[in-house]
Amino acid sequence: MTSEKFKLLLVDDDDIDIMSFQRALKKTGLNYELDICKNSIETIEFVKKYKYNCIFLDYLLPGVDGLELLKKIRGLKVFTPIAVMTSQGDEKLAVQMIKSGAFDYFPKAELSPDYIQKVILNGVRLWEVENKRLKAEKEIEENNNRLTAIVESTDNNIYAINNSLQIISFNSSFKNRILLQQNIEVYIGQSIHEFIKDDEIINHFIASLKGHSLTHFEELTLNNQYNCFETTYNPIKSDGKTTGVAIFSKDITENRKFQKELLQARNDALFSAKAKTEFLSNMSHEIRTPMNAIMGITDLLLDDSAFTGTSLKNLKSIRYSADNLLVIINDILDFSKIEAGKISFENIDFDLRLRMSELHKTFEYRSKEKGLDFIINIDEDIPNILKGDPYRLNQILFNLVGNALKFTSKGSITIDVKLIETHDNKCKLMFNIIDTGIGIPEHKQSKIFESFNQAYTDTTRKFGGTGLGLAITKNLTILQNGNINIISKVGKGSVFSVELTFEKSEFKKLEIDKLVDEVYDLSKFKILVVEDNVMNQFVAKQFFKKWNTEIIIANNGVEAIALLSENIDFDLVLMDLQMPEMSGFEAAELIRSNNSPVLNSDIPIIALSADAFLETRKKVIEAGMNDFVTKPFKPDELYQKVLKYVIKS
Ligand code: ADP
Repeated sequence: MTSEKFKLLLVDDDDIDIMSFQRALKKTGLNYELDICKNSIETIEFVKKYKYNCIFLDYLLPGVDGLELLKKIRGLKVFTPIAVMTSQGDEKLAVQMIKSGAFDYFPKAELSPDYIQKVILNGVRLWEVENKRLKAEKEIEENNNRLTAIVESTDNNIYAINNSLQIISFNSSFKNRILLQQNIEVYIGQSIHEFIKDDEIINHFIASLKGHSLTHFEELTLNNQYNCFETTYNPIKSDGKTTGVAIFSKDITENRKFQKELLQARNDALFSAKAKTEFLSNMSHEIRTPMNAIMGITDLLLDDSAFTGTSLKNLKSIRYSADNLLVIINDILDFSKIEAGKISFENIDFDLRLRMSELHKTFEYRSKEKGLDFIINIDEDIPNILKGDPYRLNQILFNLVGNALKFTSKGSITIDVKLIETHDNKCKLMFNIIDTGIGIPEHKQSKIFESFNQAYTDTTRKFGGTGLGLAITKNLTILQNGNINIISKVGKGSVFSVELTFEKSEFKKLEIDKLVDEVYDLSKFKILVVEDNVMNQFVAKQFFKKWNTEIIIANNGVEAIALLSENIDFDLVLMDLQMPEMSGFEAAELIRSNNSPVLNSDIPIIALSADAFLETRKKVIEAGMNDFVTKPFKPDELYQKVLKYVIKS
């Protein structure tokens, strides 16, 4: 027996019936509370006021029948189980009452405690089930409302179709889009063929109905305006079968426009970066060409013993300034190459100790001049021959030692080269460049590696410089997977540490081009100089005159080919690269080609160019030339290269 307390309502106007109901109810032993109403008005009031577990309703009431009252109660959204009682049985009436929401119907004659108990307990159970159903229904409704709100809150087009390609659901955005686009009103049950004529899209529906999800980009013109939609087709599955397709169509017009603008801006930026690099490259090339004349003529004059005293000093100043100018031009060129991501590295065998001793030679004089000691220590464990880019290593060390010299007025400059790691075929080296100079304040130490940044505002005025050297040095180090660090104390000095990894070479020693110390008689050789710049022709003439060598000038590739086709007695060609009519590359390729028009197609060719890039040097070799000398050329270097090829040939 349940201990639950039931709140019951009896609606009956007959006192005798009420009494017999109460008696029977008492005998059930149930825990209950019974209210009694004798007419419909009272009943409605009570039903509104209290929550009952079960209502017993007499069919015949004064002025109203049970059916009417039942409908009124249900109209109040009160779904309490109602059992209808009547004086005599009537099947038709019973059916009608059940249809209108009663859960039981019985004649009063059958009222017994057992029967009442059964009715109450059945009603309560039924009520519980009904309550759960109502709750679930409410949840579904709320969920649906939420989903509808979400679907409606977006301006993306959402709709769904069934297996027969008919609309089963859609949101206002979709409805409005179709209305705007095609002046068609969308409705449930409508075939999509009414507004989608494109077979490709229909095929997407069909593919999705086979269970595939897919995305399609649709570009179209709406009201004379470009529109783009990203549409996703997702199969709707029920019991593992595809019963329809949900379509989500997102308007990505703005996004697309933005992407296009972004792409355009990126292309513009790339174009202007390229233009900038090309400009800087051309400009420094253009500057290097006259620099060749300035430096060449200065060298010639410096060799002339007629200049002494102030004149010699002035000449040396010109030479010094020209050297500085060249460093700046090279820095700008390197910097623009790094910015454009166009820098490449050699991977060749080199003799580290030899390179370091050359570096020592370069800076020895300047450090002595300033009264500074210049020391280089190299760990004994470091192999002699390494593989990597000796030119870039030289450039890094050159920059750092140059700075150390510039910013140190007493004490010393030391380069310590240490082996910090070695395994397999690699060894990691650390180059410490130590000076006892002015030092760099801590807060400036990270800034000096940025381009155009100097530690003190008066650096340029006091020491000169562009602020590019360390930016280039850092980039060159990092691009070779290395590292650069600084430790510095104002007034005490600085230590720049560069970590670089090199491959170990298979060679223990390198064959190097021996510098020819003896003075050779070059008078028996004939050299063809292909050069379009009149000043540089003049410089070449002056040098070769000094070396007693006959040179013939060709103004471009075409003239060179013509001369080489008529004369067999040339021993060497010095070839400029950028020339009108026919470039140095084209001329060299033609000379080396199978159907070469020249008389000696094996003649040694040395390229002579203001463009100092590795790629250019590679192109030179690819075009069939033997060697490369950069302009402005160092007289010694040119002399040695000329000797190397004419003596060999
Ligand atoms: P630049 O020397 O042409 O100005 P860098 O990029 O080589 O440009 O150097 C940036 C700045 O870092 C220098 O201007 C200087 O202020 C500081 N700096 C670099 N090396 C040293 C050094 N060894 N001692 C003191 N200051 C230095």
